[in-house]
Amino acid sequence: MTDLQVSNVSKEFATRDEPLVVLRDISVELSVGDNVAILGPSGSGKSTLLHIIGTLDTPSSGSVKVKGHGPFQLNERQLAAFRNENIGFVFQEHHLLPQLSVLENVLVPTIATGSSSSNATARAQDLIERVGLSDRLDHRPAELSGGERQRVAVARALIQNPTMLLADEPTGSLDRTNAHAIGKLLLELQHQENTLLIVVTHSLELANLMSRRLELDDGQLKDVT
Ligand code: ADP
Ligand code: MG
Repeated sequence: MTDLQVSNVSKEFATRDEPLVVLRDISVELSVGDNVAILGPSGSGKSTLLHIIGTLDTPSSGSVKVKGHGPFQLNERQLAAFRNENIGFVFQEHHLLPQLSVLENVLVPTIATGSSSSNATARAQDLIERVGLSDRLDHRPAELSGGERQRVAVARALIQNPTMLLADEPTGSLDRTNAHAIGKLLLELQHQENTLLIVVTHSLELANLMSRRLELDDGQLKDVT
C-alpha cells in the first residue's frame, strides 16, 4: 500500500486581484522507506506543499491520504490524533521550549497522548543518544549550539514513531558542516526508524543525499533528472 498519496492537489491564495496559484494539480505517491528532497527556489511553494502534506494547511482542491485515510474531514480532536500518529515535523528554526531541558523537549509530543511515561522516557533517551546528545539531557536550548538544537528537534519529531518525517529547510540556519551532519542524521534515522522522509530545501548538497529529488517549477512537481 502507498503510505502517502497526494492526488491532484492545487493551492491558491486569495489576493486583492488575481488569485495567486502556488500549486497546480500535484500528484505523487510515496511509501515508508522512501527518502526524497523537494527542491525549488524561494517562493516556489515548497513550504505550502509540505504544510498540506503535514495537515498544517488545506488544499484548494485535490486530496492527501496517509495510509488510506484523508485528514481533512476530521474534527479537531481526530486531526490531533492523526498528526500525533503520522507526522513528525522539523522546521528551519528548532522551536524548542526554552524553559524545558533536552529530555523534556523531546517528550513534549507524548504529553497529549499520555503514552506510558516510563516507556516514553526510555524512547526519548534512546533517540537523544542516537542524535549524539546523551551527555546533554539536562541542558536547556540556550545552552546548546545551533546544530545541537536541531538534533533535539529531530529526536522530538521521531518520538511518536511517525509514518512521515517532514523537514522544511532543516539546515537553513546552520553552517555547512552542521548542515551536512543534520542531513546525514535525518537519513540515518529514516532508515533505522523505517519512516518516510521528505526534506524541503533549496540546498543541492542536502538534496543530493536523498535517493530521489523532486522539483517544484511553476506550481508543478517534477522529478529532477
Ligand atoms: P517556499 O517555501 O518555496 O519559499 P512558500 O510555499 O512559502 O514558498 O510560498 C509560495 C508562494 O505562496 C509565495 O509567493 C508566498 O508569498 C505565497 N504564500 C504563502 N503562504 C501564503 C498565504 N498564507 N497567503 C498568501 N500567499 C501566501
Ligand atoms: Mg519555505
